[in-house]
Amino acid sequence: MIPFNKPPFIGIEYQHISNAIQSDKISGDGFYSKKCQKWFEDILPCSKALLTPSCTHALELAAILIDVQPGDEIIMPSYTFVSTANAFVLRGAKIIFVDIRPDTMNIDENKIEAAITNKTKAIVPVHYAGVACEMDKIIALAEKYNLYIIEDAAQGMMSSYKNKKLGTIGHLAAYSFHETKNYTSGGEGGLLLINDVNFIERAEIIREKGTNRSQFFRGMVDKYTWCDIGSSYLPSELQAAYLWGQLENADLINLNRLNSWNIYYNRLKNLEKDNIIQLPKIPENCNHNAHMFYIKVKNLETRTKLLEYLKGKNIGAVFHYVPLHTSPFGCKNTIFNGVDKFTSIESEKLLRLPLWYGIKENEILFIIEKLYEFFNINIRI
Ligand SMILES: *Cc1c(COP(=O)(O)O)cnc(C)c1O
Repeated sequence: MIPFNKPPFIGIEYQHISNAIQSDKISGDGFYSKKCQKWFEDILPCSKALLTPSCTHALELAAILIDVQPGDEIIMPSYTFVSTANAFVLRGAKIIFVDIRPDTMNIDENKIEAAITNKTKAIVPVHYAGVACEMDKIIALAEKYNLYIIEDAAQGMMSSYKNKKLGTIGHLAAYSFHETKNYTSGGEGGLLLINDVNFIERAEIIREKGTNRSQFFRGMVDKYTWCDIGSSYLPSELQAAYLWGQLENADLINLNRLNSWNIYYNRLKNLEKDNIIQLPKIPENCNHNAHMFYIKVKNLETRTKLLEYLKGKNIGAVFHYVPLHTSPFGCKNTIFNGVDKFTSIESEKLLRLPLWYGIKENEILFIIEKLYEFFNINIRI
C-alpha cells in the first residue's frame, strides 16, 4: 500500500520532546515555543510569529484582530478548506466567494474588485498547493478600498512570491502544522504571522484568554488580569518541541519534497502533451514548496474511474475540496459573486497523488506507471 500521506518525521523530534518533558514546563510559550517563533520572525521574516493549536485557530484569531462585526463581508475563494470561511462566519461575517483561476486554482485576482462593497472588510487569498496568489494585484485592491489582507498560507510555508515568503505579504497570515502539511507540530498545530505591528499587543492578549499574561511575564505590567475577549490559543511545549525538530530540518524536507514533485512532473509531461491530463502551473515569479502533486483529468467521470483504479492498485490518491458554496452550509449562508465559471468544474477534475517527506522514487515510478496504464486502456477504447 502506498498511502496518500505520511506525517513528516525526522527522528530528532524524540529528543526535543524528551527535553521538554524533563524541563518541567510543558504548557505553552516555553523554551521550544519561543525558539520556533523566533525562527519564523528571523527567517521569513515577520514582525511577530505566534504558535497556535491549529491554522483554524490562527484564522479565528485573525478574524478577532481585524474586529469583524456581524454583516461585514469577507472575500475569498470557494475552492478552499472550511476553516478559511468558518473563522469569519463565527464572528458573524458574510462570506463572499469569487471564482478561481483554472491554472493555479487560486482566487482570480481580476474578479475580486467586482465583489467589493462598502461592507467589505478583508480579502483572504488562499495559496493553494503552496503556489502564491497574484498578490500585487490583491494588495493594490486592498489599498484602494482600505481592506485587510489575511493570507491563508496553511499550505504555503517555504514558498514565495517575488522573493517574499508567503505569509509575510498580508497584514496577517496563518500557517498549518497539521500532519498533512509539509511540516507538523506532532499532528496538529498552526501559526499566526503578524506583519502589521499594530496587531501585536492585542494578539498576545487574545491568545492568552484575553489576559495580559505575556506582558506580565515580561515584567511590563505588575498585575495579570482580564483585558479583552480571548480564548486559549497556545499549543503545548510538546507540540513546539516536535516542530523544532522539523524547523531544524526545514531545507532537507523542502528539497526532498521538491525532488519528488519534479519526478512526477517530468515523467507525466507526455500525458499532458497528449492532452490526457493537465499538470500544475507555477507562475514565473513564484517559488513553490511541493506541498501537493495534483493532476487534472477530463471530467468527474474520468476522475472517479481513475480513483477507483488507483485504489485497486493500493495507491492512496484523493480528491478535495467540494466548493464551499455548494456545501449544505454554504448554499444557505454564503454568496458567490459573479459566475462560477471554473470553481466547480475544475475542482471535479482534480486528483491528488501521494506525496510526503521520504516517499521513495520507486514508489513514485510505480504510481506513474499505473497512470500510464490507466490512460492507455482508455485510449484503446
Ligand atoms: C489545512 C488547511 C487549513 C486548516 O489547518 P488546520 O491546522 O488543520 O486547522 C486551513 N486552510 C487551508 C487552505 C488548509 O489547507
